Amino acid sequence: MKEIILLKLGEIVLKGLNRKNFEDTLLRCLRRRLAVIGAFQVRAAQSTIYVEPLNDAIDMDETADCVSKIFGIAAYARACVAEKDLEQMKIAAADYLADTLDGVQTFKVEAKRSDKKFAYTSPEISAAMGEYLLEKFPHLTVNVHEPDVIVTVEVRDFGAYIRAGLERGAGGIPVGTGGKACVLISGGIDSPVAAYMMAKRGLELMAVHFASPPYTSERAEQKVVELLQRVAAYSGRLKMYTVPFTKIQEQIREKCKEEYFTIIMRRFMMEIAQQLAAAKGAQALITGESLGQVASQTIGAIACTDAVCRMPVFRPLLGMDKEEIIEISRRIDTFDISIQPYEDCCTVFTPRHPRTRPELAKVLAEESHLDSAVLIEEAVQNTVVRDIQKE
Ligand code: ATP
Ligand code: MG
Repeated sequence: MKEIILLKLGEIVLKGLNRKNFEDTLLRCLRRRLAVIGAFQVRAAQSTIYVEPLNDAIDMDETADCVSKIFGIAAYARACVAEKDLEQMKIAAADYLADTLDGVQTFKVEAKRSDKKFAYTSPEISAAMGEYLLEKFPHLTVNVHEPDVIVTVEVRDFGAYIRAGLERGAGGIPVGTGGKACVLISGGIDSPVAAYMMAKRGLELMAVHFASPPYTSERAEQKVVELLQRVAAYSGRLKMYTVPFTKIQEQIREKCKEEYFTIIMRRFMMEIAQQLAAAKGAQALITGESLGQVASQTIGAIACTDAVCRMPVFRPLLGMDKEEIIEISRRIDTFDISIQPYEDCCTVFTPRHPRTRPELAKVLAEESHLDSAVLIEEAVQNTVVRDIQKE
């Protein structure tokens, strides 16, 4: 029996004149991501996208998992394809949905006939299908108000599609429709979630990571690679830029007052990230900051950090509690990696008493002890790039 996946569009349908652009981007995105699994025909008709495997060897569990992570899709369902013949449709439904129907007590059938040439009306299809399923699964009863499962039969141009309920899709809008942004990624819990959230709003991603060997290890960097691979299941492939940060941190430690270490370090991170971002066509930075979480995430500290920024900084977690962030990180499967205990360059030279209300003038005075332009240029020159895609 042939199985396909039906996708229902999300917010895209509200896009009016832009809708075609959004839909085309989504189709491109789907085709690119599915190509890794096998050969598919992907086509859109009547607010539904049909994902049809072109050979029997294709793993449909893997396919469903892949589409469940593509932004722009509100809901999806696996469905079997039957010939547009009522008898064939009944047999196909009983066969395809046997496991589902064995596991429930009540059901109802909903039929939609968009092919008006089909000989039976929607109520006639529902009635005939319901009767047949009751006969085949005698433990079932019909409940039209609160059924355990809704069997949906859609008679469309290319065939009849039979499915049980819809699964919730990834939501959001297709990656690439909103331009490109650069996420500052650490090995922590927050920044991978921030990356996911902005990709969900249609941004293509690039990532910048600061490493301070030998204070931070090879393994700590590998952890960031693994986190980004998980993010890439949603965002699609991206580039990771690893910036050598040791010298900058050592210079800050040597030449600046301890209470300003973190804030000055963060200003260097933003400056370097925005130079890399601008060079690669990204128009905004993304961080995993959450207001008040640590000393460098107070209003005053953020103001000092943002004073170096010439592009907008997106902080999707700003108003979220740690518990809420953790919930998302579990859902997108980054939590288990994030909690592995590896050092981050941020935690290497942490001041004992960081300023929570830094004054920009004082920060600038401390920073003037450094040869910033040279340090930044050297770090940018020695940046290493990697291609990241879902595992
Ligand atoms: P996370 O869980 O993301 O590590 P955090 O609560 O530990 O966040 P900080 O260490 O203050 O917070 O970092 C705040 C933000 O700065 C991070 O969310 C991330 O965007 C960025 N950042 C921190 N360390 C690095 C790093 N080594 N490389 C790139 N960006 C970083
Ligand atoms: Mg961190």
